Amino acid sequence: MKSLNEELEWRRQQHLYRRRRVTSGIQGPEILVDGRSMLLFCSNDYLGLAGHAKVVAALCRGAETYGAGSGAAHLVCGHSRAHHALEEELADFTGRARALLFSTGYMANLGTVTALLGKGDSIYQDRLNHASLIDAGVLSRAAFKRYPHADMQLLQRQLEGRSRGEAMVVSDGVFSMDGDLAPLTSMAALCRRHQSWLMVDDAHGIGVLGESGAGTLEHLNLSAEDVPILMGTLGKALGTFGAFVAGSEELIETLIQRARSYVYTTALPPAVAEATRASLRLVIDERWRRERLQQLIRRFRSAVGQLGLPLMDSRTPIQPILAGTSAQALAWSGELEQQGILVSAIRPPTVPEGGARLRVTLSAAHSDAQLDRLLDALASLKIGPLP
Ligand SMILES: *Cc1c(COP(=O)(O)O)cnc(C)c1O
Repeated sequence: MKSLNEELEWRRQQHLYRRRRVTSGIQGPEILVDGRSMLLFCSNDYLGLAGHAKVVAALCRGAETYGAGSGAAHLVCGHSRAHHALEEELADFTGRARALLFSTGYMANLGTVTALLGKGDSIYQDRLNHASLIDAGVLSRAAFKRYPHADMQLLQRQLEGRSRGEAMVVSDGVFSMDGDLAPLTSMAALCRRHQSWLMVDDAHGIGVLGESGAGTLEHLNLSAEDVPILMGTLGKALGTFGAFVAGSEELIETLIQRARSYVYTTALPPAVAEATRASLRLVIDERWRRERLQQLIRRFRSAVGQLGLPLMDSRTPIQPILAGTSAQALAWSGELEQQGILVSAIRPPTVPEGGARLRVTLSAAHSDAQLDRLLDALASLKIGPLP
């Protein structure tokens, strides 16, 4: 048996050790972190809905109506009217026949991929896909092909060599650590030509992109025929918890029969479904949240560009600043933390070796003054070789 302590020590020395912070207070740009008031630029609450009074009130009413928990899996007796109504609203929102709720995005990805693929099939993934998609591919036992980030020529060659079984291309819509969009228009054309499924995980696009907030597909004008399987999460822009897959009647019925992470798990609390219905209303009705976000993104990019810090090609609220080494990323996030600002340092293996970065995320709830505080702090960062 190997020594766990040795491995932990190695992580410390490599600047890869991770630790948790304890937060208190209602989610929003400023909360208590380890007892100290901090300004957050690291949350995925892009529209500022996690702490919204209407969403919180719906959660409370939901608990009074349904209790604290769902009591069982959906197929036993855990599927409430609240779940059912939310599924119908999500189907409308995404312009698809049906939607199916999962308890987390991780489980939605595992369940969907493993329900549709098995031995003898093939799955094609961008190298920067989210860990849950990678794990889903491994668990499915399909032949696993990865292509360099957004490399459509390689994907084309891989698809030309596909074997006889089923094929699926699956990708983040917005890449979670880079903030850029997948070239989904090309992917949809390739998948059609090679009779492959296309699945998009739009965890960071839902609520944020598109006129009505329906996400990356709406932004790129792609239909349900172009992308037959759409996965979205509820814990990011929607501010609550859980996830869904949207698609055709037969897709959803298949998942209900076969997705093990759907069948063998407790349904999320109905109160969470009620809270999500309230936040979905706000996503649809309050377009100004997306406009405000875009305004903050433009200001941030122009100011950080002037500071000479390396930004990445992103027009989404995920705005990484490349540090290179883990030590540099940690030093920067440490300097910001001393000034009361929390930005996470993202290090390998979450990003490739040499690609450590500050992952700045913006929220419609940030004020101009809060963004100014971040920009002032970034201007004071020490750039250059570290000991
Ligand atoms: C957050 C995230 C998930 C996981 O969703 P959870 O609901 O947090 O489990 C899946 N895919 C992507 C791209 C994500 O960013």
